[in-house]
Amino acid sequence: MATMSFKTISLSSSITTTNAARLGELTFSTIPKIIETPAAMLYVRSGVVPDVTYDLIPDNVTRLFEIPLGSLVDSMKNLEHTGSYGSFARITDPIYCPFHDSLVELRPGGSGNLYSSVWTKAGRQELNIERFKKLIKLVQPSVYESMFDGDTPIDKTTEKRLVKDRERSRRFLESSLGDKTILSNAIIPLVGGQDKRHRQIYLNDILSHISNNENNILGVSFEGFHSYGPSTENADLNSLKPIIEETKTKLIDYKNILFTMPLLWRPDNVIHGIDLGLDLFSGAYVAHISDRLIILSFLYNDKMSSNTLGAEYNINSKQYANGKQSLVVDCGCYTCKNYTQAYVYHLIQTKELLSRTLITIHNLYHYHGFFQQIRENLKANTWNDYRIMILKQYAIEQEKKE
Ligand SMILES: [Zn+2]
Repeated sequence: MATMSFKTISLSSSITTTNAARLGELTFSTIPKIIETPAAMLYVRSGVVPDVTYDLIPDNVTRLFEIPLGSLVDSMKNLEHTGSYGSFARITDPIYCPFHDSLVELRPGGSGNLYSSVWTKAGRQELNIERFKKLIKLVQPSVYESMFDGDTPIDKTTEKRLVKDRERSRRFLESSLGDKTILSNAIIPLVGGQDKRHRQIYLNDILSHISNNENNILGVSFEGFHSYGPSTENADLNSLKPIIEETKTKLIDYKNILFTMPLLWRPDNVIHGIDLGLDLFSGAYVAHISDRLIILSFLYNDKMSSNTLGAEYNINSKQYANGKQSLVVDCGCYTCKNYTQAYVYHLIQTKELLSRTLITIHNLYHYHGFFQQIRENLKANTWNDYRIMILKQYAIEQEKKE
């Protein structure tokens, strides 16, 4: 498998010590490119970026594909003859395979002593560790998340369940790390639900694996906090802050370990995530809102003139039937340069799939443009003002909903 490495870049700025925001770089052994972090990935569902073809993906999108493992189980037979998923799907950009799909809610009871399940829209796929390892060998992603239990929904988790969660996740991890053919480029899931003590024990249990395999481990992901799916759009990151901070303190000597966490990353939560020092973000939020005909309209750079649309709006509303402006004024995306709100609204009414394509193009451009601005503001030492500017817009949005 191609190797991928990560390094953090020290900020020249004096971001307050309570803030862990940071910049980093991902590099690859086989592809001459650098991905700057913080970054959002490009979410892929059933082998395609939802509603757009590759040639329509805006240029400012970070081309690191996020392909949940569940969507690949059905392709196992095909992959046996094609080499890797990249060559099968003609993807030359790097691929990250998270164990779960950020868009699909997990149901309880998906794991046993010898297996864990991935969930797809079509249902459950059981993976034992051998099948998991075989899948990773067939897919050959640039980086993958190791199999884990993580079945710890906050209101239903008992002490006994947390112990099982740790034991199984550790066993799955050790089996992955023990296999030299898939050892490189692993992301280690950290489990223990929302229980600080269990999360501590788990981290202590596996810390030696991190130090023994430092060159092969790309990063860690914060798992077990939630059950994935649409409700995570409203996750309260502040409640997780002490747990994440404690973990990061323990890992302070590992400067080049990347931090990631699955979630439907609404832009205000992206800001909170960056403040916690996260580097890599799921891009599934774009698919989530585009499915619901929501348009991202918050101001994310100082070249945009203020509008009355709010942070996000639903284009499927009669008030846009005669909208003569683009989805967002001053937006440089293909949709906004060529079409009006009224046209997109009309396409929705006539059930033309093109409406979804145009919406997705705009949302991808807006979301990834936002991440670009985040990096610029971190570099320019203007992060504090920038984060407040974004949080304000979403605070107003939340008030409207209440
Ligand atoms: Zn646009």
